[in-house]
Amino acid sequence: MNKKTHSDELLVIKVRHPALHFLTSLLMTTPLSKFKSDTTESTVDVDHRLWMQAALHGYEDKRGGVETTFGDFEEAKKTAAAIKWEAIENLGTLLESFSDKLESRGTKVCWASNGKEAVDYILQVCRDHGTQKIIKSKCMTTEEIHLNPALQAEGMEVVESDLGEFIVQLREEEPFHFVFPAMHLKRDKISAIFEEKLGTEPSSDPEELTMIARNLMRRKYCEADIGISGANFGVADTGMISITENEGNARLTTSLPKVHIAVMGIEKVIPNMEDLSVLLPLLGTAGAGQWMTAYNSMIGGPRQPGEVDGPEEFHVVLVDNHRTRLLADPEQRDALRCIRCGACLNVCPIFKNIGGHSYGTTYQGPIGSVITPHLRGLQSYKHLSYSSSLCGACTDTCPVKIDLHHHLLRNRRDAVREKGGRMERFCFRQFAQVMSHPKLYRGSEGLMRLGAKLWSPLEGKKADPLKAWTSTRTLPSPAPKSFHRQWREQRGGDS
Ligand code: SF4
Repeated sequence: MNKKTHSDELLVIKVRHPALHFLTSLLMTTPLSKFKSDTTESTVDVDHRLWMQAALHGYEDKRGGVETTFGDFEEAKKTAAAIKWEAIENLGTLLESFSDKLESRGTKVCWASNGKEAVDYILQVCRDHGTQKIIKSKCMTTEEIHLNPALQAEGMEVVESDLGEFIVQLREEEPFHFVFPAMHLKRDKISAIFEEKLGTEPSSDPEELTMIARNLMRRKYCEADIGISGANFGVADTGMISITENEGNARLTTSLPKVHIAVMGIEKVIPNMEDLSVLLPLLGTAGAGQWMTAYNSMIGGPRQPGEVDGPEEFHVVLVDNHRTRLLADPEQRDALRCIRCGACLNVCPIFKNIGGHSYGTTYQGPIGSVITPHLRGLQSYKHLSYSSSLCGACTDTCPVKIDLHHHLLRNRRDAVREKGGRMERFCFRQFAQVMSHPKLYRGSEGLMRLGAKLWSPLEGKKADPLKAWTSTRTLPSPAPKSFHRQWREQRGGDS
């Protein structure tokens, strides 16, 4: 056993046995300590940051071009926000209608109140069919409930069919961006992982690399016992799921295997089929700068008598997993309107610098920072609300008008209300007193200068009480004369 001190003073014990190592890392590492060490590591790689920023900028540019094809893009955003607002305000009724319609055509619907219930249900379906091989299309809800490890633990092979997901699966990594899971990888890295895991020749040709994955995938579709997908929307009035994608892999995943399981968060339900005429183009445009995503499928049940294709069995798993906790919060429930377009990540100055893995969450970027404290616990993930410049670019870009940056402030407020540090409260109370009493404020100027003088020899040293802040920044010294004093002097004493 080796011992070392972690950067934020937490003791991390490296244990050779993997199970013990996993256990101790769970015990000793907090989401905050991991976030600090991961961001420290990711931000020093300036080349990678610049490359990532250029890629994200590319999506923004494309979006700018496509926005003009909407008659009135702002009006489309307002309409989309209103549709999702209606959906969230009537969630219970819409979900019942959605489920009833699905069941009337032979779909089995599972209402899972948490991740475990969803995973248990899916495992049971797989066991009932003696499943050995599963093909999956992209579904962030399954990432959220950790479905793949549970299936693999039972000896089943799970293959991601979305190219980006497939690449990060081979690298045993989490998706970097919930729309573009492998956007952090250049061709050489993709070629290297294919070479290592699939035994292919090195290549820097994107088409060749895509063909390697495609050839392998074709066999996997035919061999799979079960196909698992997500759903971008659930349409209540027709009882259908809508899946939107660019590679055609979801279409094959949902139609070739004999059993199809769709996993979706309960907030994905929308009232009517016509709503898709606004939401689908907005989803494609906002995040990826496409007029529409290339393939759009509607699935309303298993294969019906007389139909020649489609799965024999269709299951829809409706996942709550603390979404109702967010629904119960009238101030922040609009976060459930999110259509997972990824636009807020693309414009976020924090995401552009720390990248997706540093968040340590299923959903990265501003929306991830807003909802993760609700989904996983406010105190454990409150630090994400502080990882923001509060510039509001996320709110401006959001196609369903979620008030993202104010929600970050609300999370900060709630975290302090729930378990505020006494010292923090004391400091802010004193600050408020000083700022609201001019005489006190003026008197404090001298004290501040004296404090700065006493502190300056300590700057950056071990005994520096502000070391966490000053290790990467220079604390500005107070001006020799305050603005107020200069003003008074210039005006001959008239303040
Ligand atoms: S919060 Fe808005 S911008 Fe961000 S992913 Fe969701 S819909 Fe897109």
